[in-house]
Amino acid sequence: MEALHKELENFGEVKINAPFKKMTTFAIGQAAQYLVTVTDTDKLIGLLNYLKDNGVDFFILGGGSNLLMPDHDIEGVTVRIHTKKLEMDGDTSIVCDAGVGFGTLINLSLAHSLEGLEWGVGVPGTVGGAVRGNAGAMGKNIATCLEKALIWRDGEVLELKNEECGFGYRESLFKFNDDVVLRAWFKLKPGDKKEIMLRATTYMKQRSGRYPHTPSAGSFFKNIQIAKWPGKTEELPELFRERGMIPVGWVMEQLDLKGLTIGGAKVSDEHGNFVINFNDATQEDVLKIVEIMKERAYNKFGLVIEPEVEIVK
Ligand SMILES: Cc1cc2nc3c(=O)[nH]c(=O)nc-3n(C[C@H](O)[C@H](O)[C@H](O)COP(=O)(O)OP(=O)(O)OC[C@H]3O[C@@H](n4cnc5c(N)ncnc54)[C@H](O)[C@@H]3O)c2cc1C
Repeated sequence: MEALHKELENFGEVKINAPFKKMTTFAIGQAAQYLVTVTDTDKLIGLLNYLKDNGVDFFILGGGSNLLMPDHDIEGVTVRIHTKKLEMDGDTSIVCDAGVGFGTLINLSLAHSLEGLEWGVGVPGTVGGAVRGNAGAMGKNIATCLEKALIWRDGEVLELKNEECGFGYRESLFKFNDDVVLRAWFKLKPGDKKEIMLRATTYMKQRSGRYPHTPSAGSFFKNIQIAKWPGKTEELPELFRERGMIPVGWVMEQLDLKGLTIGGAKVSDEHGNFVINFNDATQEDVLKIVEIMKERAYNKFGLVIEPEVEIVK
């Protein structure tokens, strides 16, 4: 064990028994047996290769804003990606390491009067986490602005074009394999600074009025495509028909589930698709609530709702 600790120090700062409660926005979970925080992409590649070659289990952590961690420790190595490179690549492109905060990337685009990322103001987490989950808001997502990504795949480093990343609604190829996103290039458009800033501040206001401030991992479930609605779509609010999506928050309101509480977890009173940790919740508390949400959505509307949050067992 001491030998592993020493090896890991070649790649970044090492901590043992690092609590996930302090590293995730949900503030749930036990500890990472080894936590290595990596700030440089070459070191990250070196670490991933070392772990693979030596058969050491590893878990990738970005900003921890889309995770429900388990009530037991994570054995092996948790690789926390804090890589930092962020720069302009020509006049309208930005190249960005996976560990850069998504908000930091957006700030650079706004400073250069570039449009295409302003929908993401207020989305927490890192660029790597956003690419993996095809993060989105206001009808836009990563797939609408990513040019290409550099990834680590089982010991190889590959560059994938946008169309090779398998993007879908809150999906990418990387959700179904063990690829690690190392870096991303964003192709943006020159725009009018005032107009871009106005859009960004409007989106920010909409978010702050809508989302709870108690620990959570954001929307728990993916919203539902309107084609999957079993009833008459003309009876749904016009906005849903325009967007082609039914918000799970609205479904939970119809089911009167806001406020449902188990242990320290609760369906937020402010937003029906947010499960919040208001009092030292466990993963078990959250999963019990989530089962009730799924069961009621199915029993009343025939809807199968899928988690957007990554549940680590
Ligand atoms: C208050 C709040 C509001 C939110 N609003 C939105 C929103 O509007 N839209 C939206 O899409 N999301 C939203 N989210 C969810 C979350 O912010 C995004 O999903 C975010 O992109 C996750 O990034 P992260 O770095 O925190 O990933 P993490 O939570 O650290 O990780 C999530 C998953 O991605 C994997 N991962 C992380 N980095 C990499 C990498 N470099 N390579 C491969 N895999 C990786 C992890 O192993 C894990 O499985 C919200 C969350 C909160 C708490």
